[in-house]
Order: sequence, then structure tokens, then C-alpha cells
Amino acid sequence: MKVVKTIQEVRNQVSIWRKEGLSIGFVPTMGYLHEGHQSLIRKSAEQNDRTVVSVFVNPIQFGPNEDLEAYPRDLERDKAAVEEAGGDLIFNPEPSEMYPNHFTSFIDTTETTELLCGAVRPIHFRGVCTVVGKLFNIVLPDRAYFGQKDAQQLATIRRFVRDLNFPVEVIACPIVRESDGLAKSSRNTYLNPAERQAAVILSKSLNLGREAIEQGERDAKKVIAVITASLQSEPLARIDYVEVVDFENIQRVERIAGETLVAIAVYIGKTRLIDNFVITL
Ligand code: AMP
Repeated sequence: MKVVKTIQEVRNQVSIWRKEGLSIGFVPTMGYLHEGHQSLIRKSAEQNDRTVVSVFVNPIQFGPNEDLEAYPRDLERDKAAVEEAGGDLIFNPEPSEMYPNHFTSFIDTTETTELLCGAVRPIHFRGVCTVVGKLFNIVLPDRAYFGQKDAQQLATIRRFVRDLNFPVEVIACPIVRESDGLAKSSRNTYLNPAERQAAVILSKSLNLGREAIEQGERDAKKVIAVITASLQSEPLARIDYVEVVDFENIQRVERIAGETLVAIAVYIGKTRLIDNFVITL
């Protein structure tokens, strides 16, 4: 397992593998890897001859008052996690390698980015799509792996890959959770012990919403009300959004039908956490 810092080194390694006729899987991450990331790397290692993992805290997807500086970083730990999960190469560039002076070209998506995190983090998805598009052009993978944990991101990447004809197969992977239900996230490290306990309210509340749908509720407003009431029962929780949308276009639905995404963002103390489920009727 190798770690490289430059685009040229990635291109050199990839071209060697291509000459050998090997298939390439790619897992983009911001590092501080946990079992959620590792599930993506494992899936890629299963389905491809070689797996590239990028570890890059992408500055252009953070707003001015977000946690770019505080975001946890630990490359030594990440190396062990990638190795253990079966990855072959880590690409860990400096921001200046990805964004030279006068960087002025962006991938901008509409529709799937209007609501949810797109509404409250205005430049976020432009940053995500731009870096993922650049990474696709650098790694040239056959398949790329994304977690359903970031469901709006997944829908948005599927869309720009289709719209802009990137020759990559996008593979979705299920959410990996702690034993009490909290979705694994690098940002969980921000939580103090009381907040960590309080954070289970996200998955608990989503479960109540899912049960309501399974018992026949089809009115999106009523499902939102069930989830909202449950979240409000936790004093340390402050709701950012609770939304019910169609998973393909990320547009609100009134009646639940087809493939539906129920997504929430909640502050626990100062830490903003997201979680969701997808249900197909
Ligand atoms: P990040 O490092 O947070 O940008 O995440 C990199 C990739 O890992 C994204 O595709 C995420 O959706 C995915 N991921 C993060 N947390 C989880 C999780 N708990 N379960 C599954 N995938 C995850």
C-alpha cells in the first residue's frame, strides 16, 4: 500500500495498472477513516483488481463558518485503515496540488442540490462535485463508491456523472452504524460524552418515521411530524431540517411513493450531524 501526494504519481501508477489490464475502483474520502469508509474500500476491493482511496479535506466544500480547520486529520491512522480494508493506493494531495492559483472552473449542479444540505450549505455541493469530478479525471476509475450516509451527495454525483458523461459506474453502499444506531461519522469525534449519548436521537427518530410508513402512513407531513416530535424530546438536539423527498431528484413529496428519502440534519451542541433512510414502496 502506497501513499502519494501528486497528481502525476497517481497517473503513473494508474497507467501501469491499466497496461497490466487491471480494473480500478475508487473511494473518495476526507480521511479520519472509520468502518463506514472501510465498508466502501472493502466493496471496491471485492469488485476491482486495485483500489485507490483519496484522503483530502476539500477546502472548497466548506463554508466560511464551517469546520475546515477543526476537521480531524490523521494520515497514519488512515494508512492502517486502508491497508486493513484492502486498498492499494492513497492519494493525499495538498490543497495547492488540487487548486493551483487562478483555479476558476467548477461543476455546478441544480435540482438535486436545492433542498436539504444544499439549502443550508450554499457552496457545499459545488465544491463536492468539482473535487469528485477532478478526482475522477485523475484516477480514471471503472467504479466509484459512495455511502448512502450522504444521500443527497450520492444523488447529486449520480446526476452529474450521467449529465456530463463521466465514464464511471457509481456504486452506493449502505450506512454503517455504531451499535446504538448512531451513523458513523468522522464528525462524531466532536461530541462530548453527554452529546454522544444524546446523538442516538437521530437514528431513533428516523426509526419512528420508518415504522409509521411501514404501518401505512403515506402523508409526508405526518411522517415529518413524528420525527420532529421525537427529535424535540432531546434537550441537546436542535433541528436543522427534517425532509421527505424523492431519492432521484431530491424534490419534496406530499405523498410517499416510489423510492423516497427521509433525511434529517440536527445540531447536537455545536456539531451538525446528518442521517437518513431510503424506503421503496
Ligand atoms: P467523508 O470522508 O465524510 O467525505 O465520506 C467519504 C465517503 O464515505 C462518502 O461516500 C460517505 O458517504 C461515506 N461514508 C461516511 N460515513 C459513512 C457511514 N457511516 N456509512 C457508509 N458510508 C459512509
